[in-house]
This record gives sequence, C-alpha cells and structure tokens, in this order.
Amino acid sequence: MGNARQKMTYDAIVIGSGISGGWAAKELCEKGLKTLVLERGRMVKHREDYPTAMKHPWELENRGRMPDKFKEENPIVSRCYALDSATEHFFVKDSQHPYIQEKPFDWIRAYQVGGKSLLWARQVQRWSKFDFAAPERDGFAVPWAINYDDLAPWYSYVEKFAGISGNKDGLETLPDGEFLPPFEINCLEKEIQKSIKANYKDRHPVIGRCAHLTKPQDVHLQGGRGQCMARSLCYRGCPYGAYFSSNSSTLPAAEKTGNMTLRPDSVVEAIIYDEQTQKAVGVRVIDANTKETAEYFAKIIFVNAACINTNLVLLNSTSNRFPNGLGNDNGLLGKYVAFHNYRGSMTASYDGLEDGYYFGRRPSQMIIPSFRNVYKQETDFLRGYLVAFSASRGSWQGGSWQEGFGGEWKDSLTKPSGWGVFMMMQGETIPKESNHVRLSKDQKDAWGIPQLITSIGYDDNDERLLKDFLQQGAEMLEKAGCKNINTRDSGQAPGLDIHEMGGVRMGKDPKTSLLNKWNQLHSCKNVFVTDGACMTSTGSQNPSLTFMALTARAANYAAEELKKGNL
Ligand SMILES: Cc1cc2nc3c(=O)[nH]c(=O)nc-3n(C[C@H](O)[C@H](O)[C@H](O)COP(=O)(O)OP(=O)(O)OC[C@H]3O[C@@H](n4cnc5c(N)ncnc54)[C@H](O)[C@@H]3O)c2cc1C
Repeated sequence: MGNARQKMTYDAIVIGSGISGGWAAKELCEKGLKTLVLERGRMVKHREDYPTAMKHPWELENRGRMPDKFKEENPIVSRCYALDSATEHFFVKDSQHPYIQEKPFDWIRAYQVGGKSLLWARQVQRWSKFDFAAPERDGFAVPWAINYDDLAPWYSYVEKFAGISGNKDGLETLPDGEFLPPFEINCLEKEIQKSIKANYKDRHPVIGRCAHLTKPQDVHLQGGRGQCMARSLCYRGCPYGAYFSSNSSTLPAAEKTGNMTLRPDSVVEAIIYDEQTQKAVGVRVIDANTKETAEYFAKIIFVNAACINTNLVLLNSTSNRFPNGLGNDNGLLGKYVAFHNYRGSMTASYDGLEDGYYFGRRPSQMIIPSFRNVYKQETDFLRGYLVAFSASRGSWQGGSWQEGFGGEWKDSLTKPSGWGVFMMMQGETIPKESNHVRLSKDQKDAWGIPQLITSIGYDDNDERLLKDFLQQGAEMLEKAGCKNINTRDSGQAPGLDIHEMGGVRMGKDPKTSLLNKWNQLHSCKNVFVTDGACMTSTGSQNPSLTFMALTARAANYAAEELKKGNL
C-alpha cells in the first residue's frame, strides 16, 4: 500500500453520525478499531453549539415563529412541528437539498454531527415478539431473519447506556427494559387509564418510555451527563446532556477511546467496490464546502446515513458487478419503503379535577401499545397502531388551545384553566414494492449526486386503520368522561412521521432481501446497514431504539468477525 493511501486507511468507516452512526462509532472504537466517521453536515459540539438552549421566548426572533418568507421557500420542513426559530439551525432547508416527489412525501432531514439525534422526541419502546413474527404470520413483506430473543440483550445493552425512563409494566405487547424512574402520571391521565383498563381488557395505558435521565447512573455521570430538568426545550440541544443524543452520549464515548476520527462536511458519494477481492474497499467523499473529492479506505463499512439517504448512497454505488447499486442483485434495493401513519388525532376537554395539577414539563406521553390483531387477525385491516395521549391544564377551551390578548385574558392566565386531552395514533404501515425511492437520471444536487425520487403513498389498509383509531380513540375518551371530542384526519403526507424505514430490508433469502440477520449485505459482506433502511416491517413503536439495538449487535459482530479474519 502506498503511503498516501495508507494515510486514508482505517479499520472501519461509518457513514453518518446520527442515532445509529453514533452507536456504530462507539462500539467499533471500543472494540479497538480505528474508525473514520464521515458526516456530511457541519460540526455540532455538545453544549457549545446549542446557541438557543438557554434563551427565553422573548429573546427569540419573532417569539420563535418562522417568517412567512422562510415558509414559502421551505414548505416541507416548515410542516415539522419541532421547527421554530430556536431549532431551525438543526434542520435541512428544502431549498438547499431538493428531491423529486412522485407522490407527496415530506422528507425531514438534519445534516450535522449528531443528525436527527438532536431533534428527536426521544420516545422509545421495544418491539415485542409479535412485531417480529407479524410479516410471516400475516403474509406481507418477508419474514424477519431475527426474532425478539435475538435483540432483547441488545435492547438492554443500549438502554443502560442511553438512559431510559419508564415503568416496568409487565406487558407482553410492550416488553419492559432497563429503566430509570418513570415520569409521573397526572390525575386526569390516571382517571383515563382507570377507565380504559375497566372497559377494555386488551388495552393497557402506561407512561411512555423516553430517553431521559430521571436518575443518572455512574455510566451517565462519568460521561458528563446530568439529570433531566423537565424544561421541555430539548429540540434546542440539552446543555445537561439529559436526553440521549449522539453529541452528548455515543460520540464522546467513541472519542474517549482515541480510535475515532470524525470528519464533518464530508458527503459520501458512493461506496467503492473492488471486483478482484469482491469486497467494498472504501468510499468516495465530496467536501461539502470546497467540493473537492477524496477516497477513504477500510475493511468494513457501516452505512448509517438514515433510511432514505442510505438507500441513495447504495443506489449510487455502482460497479461492473453491481450496475444497479451495491448489493442489488434482486432489483429490490430502494423498494418496500414504509413509514408510520400519523394522520389521526383528537382533542377533548374534561370537567372536574380542578384542584389537581402537576409539576414540570414532562417529555413523555401516556401510551397504549397496539391492541389490534395482536394474537390473531381480527379486523378488516392488517396490523395495528400505538395510541399516545396526554392531559394538561392550560389555555384550554372546548378542547383546543386559545390564544388571546388584553388585560382580562392575561388575568385569566394567572389561574390554571380547565383540563384538555390530546390523543394521537402511530399506525404500522405495510411495506409494498410500489412504495420506493430511486435515483433521477437527469437531475443532480449541488454536489453532482443524482437527486432522489420518492414514490411513497398510503393505501386502503392505512385508511381503514385510521378510521378504526378515530372511532376507538373517541370511544375511549367518551367512556372516560371527556367532552367536546374533536377527531381529525390531518391528511398529512407520509414522511412527516419521520419514521421512514426499509428499502434495504433484512431477510432470510437473498432472492427477496438485501441484508442477512447480521445486517450485512448478502452479496457484499463487509458492508453493514443498520439504520431504518434495514427494517423488514415497521411495527407501531417509535423505531430509533430498535435501530440502536440492531447497530450495537451488528457492530460487535463485525468487530469479532474482523478479528477472526472473516471479513
Ligand atoms: C422532530 C423529530 C421527532 C422524532 N421523534 C422520535 C421519537 O420520539 N422516537 C423515535 O424513535 N424517533 C424519533 N424521530 C426519528 C429519529 O430521529 C430517527 O429515527 C433517527 O435519528 C434515525 O437515526 P439515523 O442514524 O438513521 O439517522 P440520523 O439521526 O438522521 O443521522 C443520519 C446522519 O447521516 C448523515 N448523512 C446523510 N447522508 C450522508 C452522506 N451521503 N454522507 C455522509 N453523511 C451523511 C446526516 O447528515 C445525519 O447526520 C424523530 C425525528 C424528528 C426530526
């Protein structure tokens, strides 16, 4: 090997530094591998680069609201609820990173060190054995190559490090994890919980599990992380490191080993395949600012660019052996992309409990794990939905937030007003071949990389599932004594759920899947895909905890295999 190439050579390369890339970096570095982490976005240093974290509302431009001009120029990202003037610096702007929507798809992205881990809502649930078994039982997608028992120890492993608050509820449909103390359920939520339990034997409302340190353990304190203050300003970056992000947690752990080289502003264009060794040997990178190109080499490559971008990188990695994208022998790369159906929600009011209040701004909601089609198929749609709800006191009237002005209105704010309830769904969607992404043949981005075409939409199953949630949700609230129940179908496009999954799915058979049970490309074993792209089906749980567990499992396997000389 020449000197110049040697300088660009590592044991492992990780593409992307978000939730899954952070875990890959930590595990590979801790196993002693010299690891290059390539991140297309700018550097974001924990604490130092959270410019709005300690700002009061009146210190923010337009009190946090985005100007109309911004919304006109960036309609897609403007639809994300977490975007305001305190967080906008962490979001990708539509105008700078165009893509082609064959069907409406709101692709929400975050390009920086830490990726979307700075912006996520931190809700985490394990999958259950029923979720892994679903495709095989119900005959959709392909069977998973792993089951719950394969992942359970890795869920525990990542939970202990990430720090998850939750209650041990003993539910088969929502397995317990390694929990820090749960957040409190308020008095109205307790009433609703009691009513639902009494009226429905199959529905179990529990406090949501979330990646917040309610009682930091040694592993967290030693990493410089501290207690959650329940400020609910998390989307700005947490100076206490109280919620899990790559920036506060995994990247510092990787850094501490001395084995990580983190290279921001490095857009990976493609993975380089060597026809002779029949392995991937490295990646081609374009400097985000200067647009200069470079090549880096490694024995193993982890692709963690987030589902849709991981599909893009693989589709763009062509060679004589793989003219249609790396590992794409069966033509299924980019297909069977799925997401979560977030269209249904409702608000309600509640009379009573006027002497009840609560402390702080809790970061989690109540959740009811999926209760449809768990043990057998029983509805006119496949799979089910997770329900999330919360009750709060504020400027509520008739079940919606009221804004106002004037002395009388201000006086009214000095007393807590009535109770309001919000409920929403998170529906499983069925992966289909027609829901896909592919590369444009003629349109390129500012770095000369083909633009992505998204062709992802709802189907009848999604409509029926939504209808069921709106009926069942309203019925549950009504039975609990809620009033003014307003149900709503937002009609929002897929993508705004920000839970996109698939395109490089895992399976047992190379003819119908791209990855094996260790997240290796069937036909290029030294490339591992462990972000949402690997998901065979979507479950109804918030997915990132599963990405973390899959990544830690695959990275440990990769390091062992490398030591044995098998990669
Ligand atoms: C507002 C919001 C709320 C959310 N709430 C939740 C929640 O409560 N629970 C949950 O489970 N999930 C939630 N999510 C989703 C969660 O953030 C993602 O599932 C998770 O971040 C995915 O991890 P990842 O590593 O795949 O991608 P990311 O965290 O997005 O990281 C990918 C990284 O790869 C980089 N990259 C992309 N392309 C390239 C390239 N070509 N070269 C180099 N680098 C590249 C990106 O810049 C980025 O830094 C939420 C997301 C948002 C935005």
